[in-house]
Amino acid sequence: MKKVSKKGIKGIAKSTLFLILEISKSSYPNEFSGLLKEKDGIINEVILIPGTYSSTKGALMNFYNLPIGIRTIGTVHSHPSRIYAPSDTDLVLFRKKGSVHIITSYPYDTRSWQSYNSNGEEITISVIDIEFDEPEYRDDKEW
Ligand SMILES: [Zn+2]
Repeated sequence: MKKVSKKGIKGIAKSTLFLILEISKSSYPNEFSGLLKEKDGIINEVILIPGTYSSTKGALMNFYNLPIGIRTIGTVHSHPSRIYAPSDTDLVLFRKKGSVHIITSYPYDTRSWQSYNSNGEEITISVIDIEFDEPEYRDDKEW
């Protein structure tokens, strides 16, 4: 029985998961890493970190390049192998940064990813088919 997220994360938007898998695929054989944002308990945004050092040896996040004031709930990164288990370095990062962490692995299909809590234990989050309202966008009629 897998654990569920303690911080009330219900799931991840399908489009966000697909985007993560897409970026993982296009970064291969390098890793990519980013931060996760949520809305109403659903992960709906991935922030790519500028200045992320990426090589086949691993992705190193440079959090100092992050704009101040961005609230994130966890991290995401890809592995250029079929193993999505967290490395020792990953576990250190998980403890520092948020409560939900996603690792994707080759071949980056809908089954090659896993989410973890800050202790590196596997957690289950649902994939939710949802459309989010974009407050930045307005219909012409409103103007
Ligand atoms: Zn890793």
